[in-house]
Amino acid sequence: MIIVMRMGASESHVGAVVERIELAGYSAHTSSGAERTIIGVVGNDRPLDSEMFLTLEGVDSVMPILAPYKLASRDFHPADTVIEVRGVQIGGDAPVVAMAGPCSIEDREQAFRIAEQLATQGVRIFRGGAFKPRTSPYSFMGLGEQALKIMSDVRDQFGMAIITEVMSPDEVDLVAGYVDVLQLGTRNMQNYRLLEAVGKHNIPVLLKRGMSSTIEELLLAAEYILAGGNSQVMLCERGIRTFEPATRSTCDINAVPVLKGLTHLPVVVDPSHATGRADLVVPVSRAAVAAGADALLVEVHDRPDVALSDGAQSLRPEQFQVLVDDCSRVAVAVGREMAGSAA
Ligand code: PEP
Ligand code: MN
Repeated sequence: MIIVMRMGASESHVGAVVERIELAGYSAHTSSGAERTIIGVVGNDRPLDSEMFLTLEGVDSVMPILAPYKLASRDFHPADTVIEVRGVQIGGDAPVVAMAGPCSIEDREQAFRIAEQLATQGVRIFRGGAFKPRTSPYSFMGLGEQALKIMSDVRDQFGMAIITEVMSPDEVDLVAGYVDVLQLGTRNMQNYRLLEAVGKHNIPVLLKRGMSSTIEELLLAAEYILAGGNSQVMLCERGIRTFEPATRSTCDINAVPVLKGLTHLPVVVDPSHATGRADLVVPVSRAAVAAGADALLVEVHDRPDVALSDGAQSLRPEQFQVLVDDCSRVAVAVGREMAGSAA
């Protein structure tokens, strides 16, 4: 349930409500909006009597949150969450952000060549894989910590924030020590120990939707991270499995406005994994921006033909420029704006 405080309720009123919640064996998550404070009561599924709160001073109303996720729901936090990554804002009315870079960091030269190019194109968040979850055990698995060092040098050199995937709970501390955003991949969306581990950090997380997961399961996975104390979660639609073999996955564009209605968390679309085909990345990105995505996560490589992973879906820098230009125009057409646009 959520407890909505009256306008102007004092800190001690809020404190008394929190105390009562904790006494009942639940935990309290406070969200202070511009006008009112809302307190989320989460814990177990035992019924809780709302009357015991209505009598407390400063309490306006008590409402059940019907969805199984609580902290992720719009009821708990009506305003959009805006996540700041080294000065770049993602979510709310902020411009649409393009995060871009190669699927994998292959070597220092490759990373620096691509990052330098993207920096000139206005990209401020550089993606790159260090620990790669590969379908085949014989595929390139990434350079591990060496790639993290290369990425942090990229950050120093070009002032870009960096995002990379973390695959295992034991590696969260290591990866969080290097990067600005932790990515949780589609194959790990329901790795609950990993969700708990990133919940303990205060670092932005990009949570990718499991390729066979529902929107509700995605929100419940986010709830694990939020309940652990990390409020900086972005959700990423990266394509789901359907019966359609023409593309690697099917981009669930519907998920964008559905999520924007259900949750306050920023919504990101990854058109690269969603399509698996470079020729489809630009049109699907345009659709994502029109549908309300807060950011795009795009794979870019200067030599896709020799890329060690996901070359077929990687854009060349000049194709990425088309994406930025097209998406900037779409953003304006739907009353939005795009960051880092050269248009
Ligand atoms: C990636 O971003 O390179 C990746 C492996 O993504 P996903 O988990 O969506 O497959
Ligand atoms: Mn990839």
